[in-house]
Amino acid sequence: MGSEPRPSPAGSHADAEARLRSRLAEVEARITAQRAVVDGIVASVRGENVDDEHDPEGATLAWERQQAAALAAEAAVERDELRAALDRVGAGTYGFCEVCGRAIPAGRLEVRPAATRCVEHAR
Ligand SMILES: [Zn+2]
Repeated sequence: MGSEPRPSPAGSHADAEARLRSRLAEVEARITAQRAVVDGIVASVRGENVDDEHDPEGATLAWERQQAAALAAEAAVERDELRAALDRVGAGTYGFCEVCGRAIPAGRLEVRPAATRCVEHAR
């Protein structure tokens, strides 16, 4: 027959692309949520007119704001990795180790869709 679609081993990249896009959406939602936390805390601090750094509640809010900002920054890094991976899908270079040029195993790409290296060269 030959008309049946079968997954190509080197690149079922339609799957990879879908996976990357859904992760990207997830990560962007996380960034938005964390930034809202940062903004919300800033607003509440401003609203209560807490300008004493030694105020214990003020210190907690500052800490929470830092945590949220750190999480947002972390998610932003992942977003950039996912975007770069999508670029590689478009360029046809997705799924190959940047060190040795061999195909990264599908199982690894499932766990880490933005991986740029094979397991051997990941460290
Ligand atoms: Zn490699």
